[in-house]
Amino acid sequence: MTASKRIFLVLLGPPGSGKGTQARRLQEHLGIPQVSTGDLFRCNVKAETPLGVLAKRYMDKGELVPDKVTIRMVAQRLQEEDCANGAILDGFPRNLIQASALDELLAADGGVALVVWFNASDEEVMNRITGRRVCRSCGQVYHMMFNPPQQEGVCDVDGGELYLRADDQPETVKNRLYVYYKQSSPLVGYYYAKGLLAEVDGSQSPDAVTEAFLTLLKSHGYL
Ligand code: ADP
Ligand code: ADP
Repeated sequence: MTASKRIFLVLLGPPGSGKGTQARRLQEHLGIPQVSTGDLFRCNVKAETPLGVLAKRYMDKGELVPDKVTIRMVAQRLQEEDCANGAILDGFPRNLIQASALDELLAADGGVALVVWFNASDEEVMNRITGRRVCRSCGQVYHMMFNPPQQEGVCDVDGGELYLRADDQPETVKNRLYVYYKQSSPLVGYYYAKGLLAEVDGSQSPDAVTEAFLTLLKSHGYL
């Protein structure tokens, strides 16, 4: 990775495919932060900001938050100091409008460097999402079976309470999967056509996915 160029990676994949888990692991290797639009919205919901109040209406139904506010939020986030060398975009873009807005935002940096597509079956992601538990205070993510905390219901990192996200209930997840196939999956073709798409088998164990991801980054010269 050259010192002067900012590197922007996009993680694409259905809800529950492991984007957040891998983004958190990869930020140490790459020295650039994870920027998760879902996390940013959840922080705003928790703080009851006007953005949070608006976003919650859509999140609770498993719908996308309107593009205009989402794009503005990401544009502001990418101007922050910790993004000086780039970022790992987790959950953005999620449709073609957001993808072309991102192209414009990153025009001076040569655009998106690489898009990693996490492929996993509906059954697998459904199992993962319904078992996902998140720390109320620090946002650390667990899974009741695949990645349980040491003590049930308690975060290993800061002792916070673990909760099931409101939008991780099976009925809402079904709609989120529908929204993914309808609005987000066209991005696979969009980035493929640009020669930026790389696929990782997201159904493997977390360590195997990380290994595949690192190999990919090395082969593209980012590590
Ligand atoms: P997951 O990690 O399970 O894919 P996220 O945490 O990324 O879910 O997103 C949770 C919710 O936040 C989405 O269902 C949607 O309502 C909202 N959201 C997140 N990212 C975006 C985005 N790029 N555009 C619009 N809405 C978004
Ligand atoms: P996403 O950000 O794509 O919605 P997460 O990273 O939050 O996905 O993962 C969804 C759930 O599945 C979490 O509970 C997480 O602990 C678990 N998980 C993540 N990756 C794997 C994996 N490779 N195998 C099994 N469980 C996983």
